Amino acid sequence: MRDPPRVEEIIKTMQKAGTSKIQVISDFDMTLTRFAYNGKRCPTSHNILDNSKLISEECKLKDLLNTYYPIEIDSKRTAEEKLPLMVEWWTKAHTLLVQQRIRKDLLQDVVKESDAMLREGYQLFFDHLQEHSIPLLIFSAGLGDVLEEVIRQAGVFHPNVKVFSNYMDFDETGVLKAFKGELIHIYNKREGALLNTGHFQELKSRHNVLLLGDSLGDLTMADGVHSMENILKIGFLNDKVEERKTSYLNAYDIVLVKDETMEVLNALLLCFG
Ligand code: C5P
Ligand code: MG
Repeated sequence: MRDPPRVEEIIKTMQKAGTSKIQVISDFDMTLTRFAYNGKRCPTSHNILDNSKLISEECKLKDLLNTYYPIEIDSKRTAEEKLPLMVEWWTKAHTLLVQQRIRKDLLQDVVKESDAMLREGYQLFFDHLQEHSIPLLIFSAGLGDVLEEVIRQAGVFHPNVKVFSNYMDFDETGVLKAFKGELIHIYNKREGALLNTGHFQELKSRHNVLLLGDSLGDLTMADGVHSMENILKIGFLNDKVEERKTSYLNAYDIVLVKDETMEVLNALLLCFG
């Protein structure tokens, strides 16, 4: 923490207001899921497909990852410099996915066979939020159909969980033909995008936000929250720790370095009530 007394102050204020005033806004890949397990990288929702039998050997999805992921985590480039390159990455990846004619009915198996894992302590986290009727909004630049399946298979896709992500559009035979709606990439996630949806009403009275992310792009997720009073931002710093520590400490209230668990989040939730 850069400023522990301030963090303590925010926690106390949120605690006093109680759980009925809280909403949790979280990123998915590498925030709710693990970055690594036993020294091996865990997949993002895109990687789950890239690594699966649904993608042909010749498909260049892995080349895209090798080209663009180092740019995503490059601390020497600004968000402005990265933005067009990130849009390029997502656009190219989605075009390739459509070319692979992915079948909807196989997604369940592909997720089952993958190495995707929610962070240790996820059960307590999801169950606690559900039991206390705290909405959990997941904003992901990943693949909605895939990440929903990860949460479903873990048995924690409770009714308080709402996902905003890139969803696949299948033709009448169940083959991927396009992606629905506007592309969500790491730099355009924000709750303001929900202003015109039904979800907005139920969030209106929740002025305290617990924000969870692993990328600096995740920090805008709470932009547009209706009359926000307090926000506690927790960042998972998984990769390139030394180079990025300062910028993460400046941006997030609490930075969890190479922490594959939800222990801190769960301790906070218990103290909120
Ligand atoms: O859920 P989240 O918003 O974190 O998902 C985005 C992540 O997915 C990015 O951080 C990026 O590293 C990863 N990604 C990927 N393959 C792509 C596009 C993005 O693994 N084609
Ligand atoms: Mg992420």
